[in-house]
Amino acid sequence: MRDLVAQLNRYAKEYYTDDNPSVSDAEYDALYRQLVDLETAYPDLVQADSPTHRVGGMILSGFEKYQHDYPLYSLQDAFSESELLEFDKRIKKEFPQATYLAELKIDGLSISLTYVDGLLQVGATRGDGLVGENITENLRRIKDIPLSLPAPVNLTVRGEAYLPKKSFESLNAERREQGQAEFANPRNAAAGTLRQLDTAMVAQRQLATFLYQEASPSRQASQEAVLTTLGQYGFSVNPRYRVSASMADIWQFIQEVGQDRGRLPYDIDGIVIKVNELAIQEELGFTVKAPRWAIAYKFPAEEKEAVIESVDWTVGRTGVVTPTANLSPVQLAGTKVSRATLHNVDYIADKDIRIGDTVIVYKAGDIIPAVLKVVTTKRTSQEKMPVPSHCPSCQEELLHYEDEVALRCINPQCPSQLQERLIHFASRQAMNIVGLGPAVIKKLFQADLVHDVADIYQLSKEDFLALEGIKDKSADKLYQAIQASKSHSAEKLLFGLGIRHVGSKVSQQLLEYFGDLNRLSQAQVEEVAQIDGLGQTVGQAIVSYFSTKGAQQLLTELAEAGLNLTFKGQLVLGDALLSGQTVVLTGKLEKFTRQAAKEKLQALGAKVTGSVSKKTDILVAGSDAGSKLAKAQALGITIKSEEWLEEL
Ligand code: NAD
Repeated sequence: MRDLVAQLNRYAKEYYTDDNPSVSDAEYDALYRQLVDLETAYPDLVQADSPTHRVGGMILSGFEKYQHDYPLYSLQDAFSESELLEFDKRIKKEFPQATYLAELKIDGLSISLTYVDGLLQVGATRGDGLVGENITENLRRIKDIPLSLPAPVNLTVRGEAYLPKKSFESLNAERREQGQAEFANPRNAAAGTLRQLDTAMVAQRQLATFLYQEASPSRQASQEAVLTTLGQYGFSVNPRYRVSASMADIWQFIQEVGQDRGRLPYDIDGIVIKVNELAIQEELGFTVKAPRWAIAYKFPAEEKEAVIESVDWTVGRTGVVTPTANLSPVQLAGTKVSRATLHNVDYIADKDIRIGDTVIVYKAGDIIPAVLKVVTTKRTSQEKMPVPSHCPSCQEELLHYEDEVALRCINPQCPSQLQERLIHFASRQAMNIVGLGPAVIKKLFQADLVHDVADIYQLSKEDFLALEGIKDKSADKLYQAIQASKSHSAEKLLFGLGIRHVGSKVSQQLLEYFGDLNRLSQAQVEEVAQIDGLGQTVGQAIVSYFSTKGAQQLLTELAEAGLNLTFKGQLVLGDALLSGQTVVLTGKLEKFTRQAAKEKLQALGAKVTGSVSKKTDILVAGSDAGSKLAKAQALGITIKSEEWLEEL
């Protein structure tokens, strides 16, 4: 038992504090179960620091501590239908009239949001349940968290912040290209993002939330009514849930969601079943660690054993060399898997992964298969994995920088890198040149027809016809697709250039601000860095890219070839405290002129209009306010004073 406690506490630290677990959740859960069973059999031997007696999570230095007004809890878990039926029996014995509400268990990070007078005042992590980290500034950067509510209420709500699978994939792709360690799964990426000090980084990573609980005393009668009210307040609430008095129905819901799990745009690790009636919840109360009125059913882990048959090392567009294992095929989460990422050379060394090894394969975020660890008891190979010393594409010597986890080829003329850059440039999110995929690019390259992206626009239909396997019709289509790409809005071109730290979202933001690529290419670090959500890293990346002669020349060549360098969307003010809110001013203001107040509000992202309507979010009323105030009151619109404005 002592060993188990020590081991589980170590894993909990890696998971909650470092956001970098070394074992899978399934493995952790199995050990935890073993400890629970032992503690039930030998209650006298329960260790004081047992994880079964506290809510996991610790406070990182760098953040202020935040004492929760209402504690946060963990959930008791179940791994089978029979455990759910037992739970049902327990509840129904005391409360035969109880019904259940089953919700998706979002695999993210618990958050607690406190609103005072309808304004977001504090956002915090769960921490140990009593004290969490104050991460208000980071949470403000999550777009779907309302900064103000439609009514001036005091409220504490709970929910989950998560990283959508798509954002997780692109974040890891970017980290791979930059030689950084990848996140193990979306949960760790979300937790790592929210618990770091650079708010700009948070804005970039596109986190989202689902809120599901009112922690402050609720006026609603049921969990279902709570969800509806949270939705009306403007919180993001997961629309998928089931209410029923019968556990058989709930089990049916679990099966249905289990089937769709892979297709959901975010990760879930189970289903939470709650007693729907809040009055019954209150009577049931809590154990030291979890509510008695809820239980989390955990889906079985998607992990399988496979044998590593060989390893391919490939060079990406930034020169990072990535190892991919070829596996004996296995069925995993509904698909046949025969390849899995080994991330980078440090990962291989840390886990001592060898060719011929039997390994545990899993899907990170249910998408990309990865190798979790080696089953050492089945090891036959004596030899460490051979690591290439030279680039598999250009044969130049590879480097392994001290602050990177990957091997890197730094030859700017490396054919693999050049090809990968072209593939990226033509890809859907970038210039979207339909038909110009890896195979055609490889042929163009081999025929010595292209070297950099500008060359694409010098290609004629005849050039394509000269390539093997390309007929008249496809040559025509390719040529047309290239011509069509010239008129795309410039953020696609910017993304296509593949500048470090400049993903598609950042490209969009940069052009929304600068309006065209020529202006951006002359920007100063500070000018870029102050754009909300970007920061110094992006500023430096932009300036250092455009300060090279090659980049300026490329821009000129692209312009001469007829490419559009301007942004075609709407220019916007950055994301701010009142973004998306419509505000009306009325009455006499003491400290601001009307114009100054309007400008301040606009600088905070608000849209300031002249008359009150249903679309108005906030009315700022000075003294002697008249008909606008009366109308706003009648419409139930939030009314604020001049002091509020000053405080903002
Ligand atoms: P939990 O994740 O099993 O359940 C509690 C949490 O579920 C709540 O705090 C809440 O944030 C979340 N949740 C998501 N959707 C919800 C919903 N609709 N309603 C209510 N809550 C919802 O418990 P825990 O204490 O946070 O973590 C324990 C789990 O974490 C373990 O079972 C294990 O899977 C994982 N873990 C893994 C490691 C590791 O090393 N891999 C280490 C520690 C913990």
